[in-house]
Amino acid sequence: MEELFKLLTNDIHFNVTELSSKTWNKNWKVPEGLISIVGLEDGKRPVFYYGVVDNYKEDYLLNKGVSENNNKFVNARMYFKFDRNDVMAKERYVVANGFNGLLLCIKIDKDKFTKTFEKILLEKYNEGEEHIVEVLDKMMDRNMFDSVEESVRYITNRDYNWLIGRLKYKAGLFNYSGQGYWLLPLKTNMKITKGFKLTDNEIIVDLENTELFKNYLIYVDIKDGVIKYNKDRLCKSGFSLVDEIRKQMSDDTCPWCGEKLRLVKTKRGEFLGCSNYPECLYRRFLKNNNKK
Ligand SMILES: [Zn+2]
Repeated sequence: MEELFKLLTNDIHFNVTELSSKTWNKNWKVPEGLISIVGLEDGKRPVFYYGVVDNYKEDYLLNKGVSENNNKFVNARMYFKFDRNDVMAKERYVVANGFNGLLLCIKIDKDKFTKTFEKILLEKYNEGEEHIVEVLDKMMDRNMFDSVEESVRYITNRDYNWLIGRLKYKAGLFNYSGQGYWLLPLKTNMKITKGFKLTDNEIIVDLENTELFKNYLIYVDIKDGVIKYNKDRLCKSGFSLVDEIRKQMSDDTCPWCGEKLRLVKTKRGEFLGCSNYPECLYRRFLKNNNKK
């Protein structure tokens, strides 16, 4: 399948294929590095157009700030940037064929995300950058970590899970790895979806804003080799992100990796930790325990 796509996309600009209710959960692969544009016929029976977008890039940025409570924080954020003119040129083809939606395809690689930010954070810590040193040292203390490396890994995993969580909650896909390809609705009914940042030259996917997206998210799981899209939710309203998060917070499953949480008692205090430790550093502190 991959070879076929490679051949097709080498020789022609776009190719069309139909994803019907009979085939929607069967094996489908979007080749790596290929950015897709997809036309939606009526939201129930999507027809896929594939197009490679040139000049696509990923940006990794650390956002530093101070919270309302005067605590310094650091967030690891990833942005996907598309060449706006290139996308628009390909859009004309889609529009000419009578479709009223466009999707962009992004791939989120957990390893790349965490490794990239671990390197950046440790470098800045070792250089003695004040803001970073303060945040990492405080986190080591507050989360009862043994080393600054654990603080670093905690931040990268926390932020990866937070960003991917926006997409997963939005798509209603709680049990998937989130490491595959995501097809995001750039346009529906010829209006640009809220949540994308537009500049003169770029279309920027800011995962922090994906809760603004319409429900039409498609997820291509590269582990199982299947496409998932939530047929039931496409036409339903009343979905509550807050309720979904609350549901997850109230059970004893680790929201980062899916393993069980267990009560950990140390000299420094108690917390709910992931049984997958030290692979997974998720921990949840009980309210009265966390106060200083
Ligand atoms: Zn875990």
